[in-house]
Amino acid sequence: MKHPRPSEPVTSLPFTPVIARPLPCSVTPFPNETLGSYTRRLAAANQTTSRTLFTPSRWLRCPLNELELLELLSGQPRTTLVWAIPELRRHAPGIAPAPRTPGVTTRFACRRCIWQSGGAGTVHVHARTHYDNVCVRHGIWHSDGVETLDQQIDLAPAPEVIRAQLTLDRLEQRRGEAFVAECYRQCERVWLALETRGLVRSEVDDLLRRLCEPNTPTGPDPLAPFHRFRRVARFPQLVRFVVWAVSPSLRRVARSAWEAADHVIPAEFERAFPLDHRPRSTTGPWMCDALINLLKRIDSHAQLIPGSGPAT
Ligand SMILES: [Zn+2]
Repeated sequence: MKHPRPSEPVTSLPFTPVIARPLPCSVTPFPNETLGSYTRRLAAANQTTSRTLFTPSRWLRCPLNELELLELLSGQPRTTLVWAIPELRRHAPGIAPAPRTPGVTTRFACRRCIWQSGGAGTVHVHARTHYDNVCVRHGIWHSDGVETLDQQIDLAPAPEVIRAQLTLDRLEQRRGEAFVAECYRQCERVWLALETRGLVRSEVDDLLRRLCEPNTPTGPDPLAPFHRFRRVARFPQLVRFVVWAVSPSLRRVARSAWEAADHVIPAEFERAFPLDHRPRSTTGPWMCDALINLLKRIDSHAQLIPGSGPAT
């Protein structure tokens, strides 16, 4: 009996990889730059798009990974690309260590850092933390509330904002990023509530006036609670509040009997932050509860995070 011959496999087209060539204009990566930002700048310098760089042909596959492709297209040394762009480190773990945290949050690079490095236009970098707001080298507020590069704020008239960033950075070195990040988040929430009740506004208003003279606020009312000028003006007080709230002695009082805490905590707060007016009948107890609960939450957090400094 004659068996039918198995059908012939469909002959596929031979695999022909696309070999990329160096682009005419090279671009130096910015320290800690995001992959998207770098490819966009490289593409723009060569009058093309990022999509075209990574998919040079609709029909043929490119066998190179992101690092190999960018190395070839940009002409930049492999080590320069890997050290500057954290996302590329997974392709070359032997050159630079993997970033501590994956780049979830990004921010604008400081406009003076960009200018100093010879770059132009907008550069996005991985944000270290959500409270990393100031380039202390150039005195520029670069991120919180900033939506375009020209909205970055010159802090020359408000050096206390730069000092506040340095204070926060030193606190982070002593207590660890995880602990400080959580304290900052908790303190910011309480501080906004205190500010909304008009208890701690005068210092912010004074700083706001100084900031608005050389800088020109654009967009909606700069006095609005979440306008970037208002965020800058709030920052020094907020950092002092974080430092106040992480104090182990205050946390110990907050943990103690309610009667003692009710008197000591508000008094200590008012000593550190003179109030603009005496709290009214309901505001006083609210403030007392808010401060004690904040200290208790921070205290619980300190117990959970090893290495966050003295817990008692
Ligand atoms: Zn800078």
